Amino acid sequence: VISHEPPGYACPFCSLAAGRPIGVGRLTDLVARTGRALATIAPHWWPHNPGQVLVVPIDHHENLYDLPAPAGHAVHDLVRAVAVAMRAAYGCAGVTVRQNNEPAGNQTAWHLHVHVVPRHPGDGLYREVPRPSLADPEERRRYAGLLRARLSLPV
Ligand SMILES: [Zn+2]
Repeated sequence: VISHEPPGYACPFCSLAAGRPIGVGRLTDLVARTGRALATIAPHWWPHNPGQVLVVPIDHHENLYDLPAPAGHAVHDLVRAVAVAMRAAYGCAGVTVRQNNEPAGNQTAWHLHVHVVPRHPGDGLYREVPRPSLADPEERRRYAGLLRARLSLPV
């Protein structure tokens, strides 16, 4: 098993899924929950891509290498639903999906998460300068509401 998770890691996604968020996550960020997956507004946003979503398996899996197929399928199904809702609700011109594994792959939280990023012409996402910064919880709540209204899934 390939792992970079430190001993005793306090997982922000497991805590959010359990309804007791730690760190910068908020329950008001939640977008949708299915049997094995959860979608939440990301606490950090790239400067020209407000409202990005993270989709995670509800069970703790660190990376893609050891992700069981049922969890992976559930994550992908929810990624697709979020992308469709995002396109309609945000009025963005496109959607980018990406997922990072290990420090060399830019992974910084040790519970697999898929970024679903709203795209706009000339948004400079792949330049990534400046880096993502913490988004205001009230703005996050507003974007979560836009997606919840489209998805009509439990949170
Ligand atoms: Zn976790």
